[in-house]
Amino acid sequence: MTDKSDFDSPMLRTALAQLDQTAERLQLDQGVHERLRHPRRALVVSIPIQMDNGTTGVFTGYRVHHNSVLGPTKGGLRYAPDVDLAEVSALAMLMSWKCALMNLPYGGAKGGVRVDPRKLSRQELENLTRRYTAEIILFIGPDLDIPAPDMGTDEQTMAWMMDTYSMTQGRTVPGVVTGKPLIIGGSAGRREATGRGIVYALYQAARHLGQDLKGRKIAVQGFGNVGGVAARLLWREGCVIVGVSDVKGGIWNSHGIDIRQLEAHVAATGGVAGFPGTEPISNDELLTQPCEVLIPAAVGSVIRADNADRIKATIVAEGANAPTTPEADVILRDRGITVIPDILCNAGGVVVSYFEWVQGLQYYFWRESEITSRLQEVMTRAFNRVWALATKEGTDLRTAALMEGVRRVAEGYKVRGLYP
Ligand code: NAD
Repeated sequence: MTDKSDFDSPMLRTALAQLDQTAERLQLDQGVHERLRHPRRALVVSIPIQMDNGTTGVFTGYRVHHNSVLGPTKGGLRYAPDVDLAEVSALAMLMSWKCALMNLPYGGAKGGVRVDPRKLSRQELENLTRRYTAEIILFIGPDLDIPAPDMGTDEQTMAWMMDTYSMTQGRTVPGVVTGKPLIIGGSAGRREATGRGIVYALYQAARHLGQDLKGRKIAVQGFGNVGGVAARLLWREGCVIVGVSDVKGGIWNSHGIDIRQLEAHVAATGGVAGFPGTEPISNDELLTQPCEVLIPAAVGSVIRADNADRIKATIVAEGANAPTTPEADVILRDRGITVIPDILCNAGGVVVSYFEWVQGLQYYFWRESEITSRLQEVMTRAFNRVWALATKEGTDLRTAALMEGVRRVAEGYKVRGLYP
């Protein structure tokens, strides 16, 4: 069962406020606007699993399909201790706008399990993933809803999901998930896709602003799939990574951090803390330290009304989903800070997931260089479309990106009509 808090969360408030403002700007039909405020369907499941000590643990899982007007739904699966139905619904809504903005033939979805994955053994994680998959099995499929990794999940999680689904079908179904290991139909370049997409978006932003990305001082919150890869690629491009953090805290060195050595330190110790030559810093402090580009790439609602006026960066590249609250958005806009919004900035992941899905359906796989150049093309085109719309409308990039994404979904509703 769900409790009252399941229907309210900062992220859901952010997503609804963004939709309402966009609907007003677009003068959206009342009926379409109302339909977009609600998910098409949401499933809450109990996941009983055998724990290593012989007891039975029961976890709560969610899968939300926001809408499928443009195609099967697509969205990640998150394992986090505080995830709830409201957060998953908000993230599913963002996926709808993101897929539409990137011109992908998908609707939006998201999944979550309320669990701290670091507290489970590998066997318990496998039990959890397989039982969760079994519980939502009627909800997923290669032409129905296609999960992918998100916070707390990875390629191995997707392999277990794909295997569980395939076993129930009596055949191998690679297209049911994306972000799989290469050996079972994953795509070259998928792991790096979101971080790489951020780099392409930043290049375009710098170009439009008449800046050079090389030599810029960059701080990254979150050192996982998104933040870790973005930090490594930007460091290789000659940027100065002055700060990074993970769930346990952050590190800072205003002269720059050697990301290759930091990766070895993280592999050996399990976190960024204690990396030689750096000062310890909290996750909150990291956001407001002097730097030129800030990449929040961990959790949502970290840039808020109470810290937005202290942010020093002139560009905020949203690797995470919904890291900025609507109140903070106004403050950043008024201060002239360029925010590359989540649905554009971190869309590289779903774009390469789309490539993986297409390859899986055709059983024909592309080279990594092909993936990378197609990703660059899609990201660059989307960025320039958003920039042009923002210039034309006299708005910030988030407003323009949402206008484009919401407009496309609304158009789909319009032409399909209301059943029955
Ligand atoms: P991940 O699990 O690989 O890494 C998450 C990182 O954030 C880790 O370093 C973790 O220690 C840190 N972290 C967790 N909780 C934190 C907290 N409260 N404060 C500070 N740091 C914290 O996850 P990921 O896939 O890199 O996802 C990060 C963000 O990017 C999420 O918001 C996710 O929705 C978004 N995103 C991910 C993808 C993708 O392809 N993986 C695509 C688009 C958006």
